[in-house]
Amino acid sequence: METKPVRRSARPLTAAEVSTWNDEADVVVVGFGVAGAAAAAGAAASGASVLAVERTSGWGGAAAMAGGFIYLGGGTALQKACGFEDSPDDMYAFMKAAFGTGTNDEKLAIYAERSVEHFDWLVSCGVPFRAKFFDQPGWEPAADEGLMYCGGENAHPFAETIRPAPRGHLPQMADKRTGERGGGYMLVKPLVDTALASGVRLRTDSRFERLVIDADGSVCGIVVTTYGEKVAIRARRGVVLASGSFAYNAELVEQHVPALSGRPGSAIEEHDGQAMRAAQWVGADVAHMDNCEVAIHADPGLMARSLVVNGLGQRFINEDTYPGRIGVATALQQRNQALIVADQRAVDEAVAAPKGTRMIPPPNWVSDDVAELEAEAGLPQGSLAATLDAYNRSAAAGADPLFHKAAQWLRPLEGPIGIFDVRGQTSGFPLGGLRTSVDGAVLDVDGDAIPGLYAAGRTTLGIAASNYASGCSLGDGSFFGRRAGRAAAAV
Ligand SMILES: Cc1cc2nc3c(=O)[nH]c(=O)nc-3n(C[C@H](O)[C@H](O)[C@H](O)COP(=O)(O)OP(=O)(O)OC[C@H]3O[C@@H](n4cnc5c(N)ncnc54)[C@H](O)[C@@H]3O)c2cc1C
Repeated sequence: METKPVRRSARPLTAAEVSTWNDEADVVVVGFGVAGAAAAAGAAASGASVLAVERTSGWGGAAAMAGGFIYLGGGTALQKACGFEDSPDDMYAFMKAAFGTGTNDEKLAIYAERSVEHFDWLVSCGVPFRAKFFDQPGWEPAADEGLMYCGGENAHPFAETIRPAPRGHLPQMADKRTGERGGGYMLVKPLVDTALASGVRLRTDSRFERLVIDADGSVCGIVVTTYGEKVAIRARRGVVLASGSFAYNAELVEQHVPALSGRPGSAIEEHDGQAMRAAQWVGADVAHMDNCEVAIHADPGLMARSLVVNGLGQRFINEDTYPGRIGVATALQQRNQALIVADQRAVDEAVAAPKGTRMIPPPNWVSDDVAELEAEAGLPQGSLAATLDAYNRSAAAGADPLFHKAAQWLRPLEGPIGIFDVRGQTSGFPLGGLRTSVDGAVLDVDGDAIPGLYAAGRTTLGIAASNYASGCSLGDGSFFGRRAGRAAAAV
């Protein structure tokens, strides 16, 4: 992760220390990415005057560069139009099973219960979805398909006990350009337009520094820096922190989630954790700061058709699951060591399958002598041979007793074997953040709401705790952002 030595004090000012308020609004939103835009729209729809401050010169944040998955379900109109049945109970059961130890179950419950309504709200804001299902494993759909599996719902261990449904909802792109007006852009633009059309003011080039607190400890404003000038902004009803994660604060990453230290971040460098630190200064509790999502830089369609082995030549996961689960298992349990072992047929089929942007490079080594491959790849002698032998024997019998890869992907690997070396090729972002209520209130270490302080998006712990599905960030950021804005406006 790109490092930046950042340590700006986040100590709050007292209102008495503010000589002049330069601006004011009922609700002040910090950050204008997905959570900020939804919070601003939610607060404005509730009748509050809203000012959003944004560090960069424009709106969008990481969300506008994102692939666009929004994790939604429970029977959305898009799921139905694509022929899938889902229910809030199934969605809750999957999230509880898949998102790891430490999920906030109250958040999961309300998210599952109101997911259909949230989808409808996004559509009402103008987010376009095309009713077409993309049926391949992948990091994203090949074109502008609107729905795909994005969390391992259709793979072991979930598919056996929880009715699988695809929940990766993707805004339709007019002309697919991921990273540049991709699905994330097609989500955030309508949310920003909705917010601005309802009277939200946006103040760009304004970097949040600190909170301002009243004598009773409630939050009543913020201080930002605009072109070197300190600007104090009063919040009559509340402040919503929505400025992203701490992925680009090297010190916090090293302190809390060292597995990501020194690795590229799947975020933007504005995610510096300042808002989180400011909230901690006024007593905020944090949750699961050591958890992260990790992307492995490999083609999911190739992995599903191949074996993924660790630095000891051993398999460690079913290769047909959500690639983010493979990434997390690789980074956290396998010391970031993963190699893909494929035959020519696996490569040919993966290349031929429709896919998004990811290309399949040539393998690092190819040979029909496995011992030679082990030596070239630096794997212990006999390790890969044993793995291949066991896999091929059970696959020939139509089974995968170790990791339960689905029958669709099972067959013995034949002929010359190629190895794709993806050791160290991962990137990620932290999942942990401020502990918040389902209405976005920031909770203190006693579990009580800090008056005047709200948060949403990756500044908080959302629905994913120690494992992830694509779409959780845009999903819970927009869902809980809107709720936080409404709650702040209602004070
Ligand atoms: C390439 C890529 C693809 C991704 N694909 C997906 C996907 O398909 N689905 C998904 O759910 N997630 C995806 N993500 C992750 C997702 O984009 C982010 O986790 C999500 O945008 C977080 O939402 P947020 O509102 O918390 O932060 P952001 O959307 O980044 O918004 C935060 C805003 O706050 C601003 N800000 C930061 N610090 C300050 C400050 N001090 N003062 C004022 N403003 C500040 C930032 O400039 C930014 O505009 C992807 C990420 C990347 C990098």
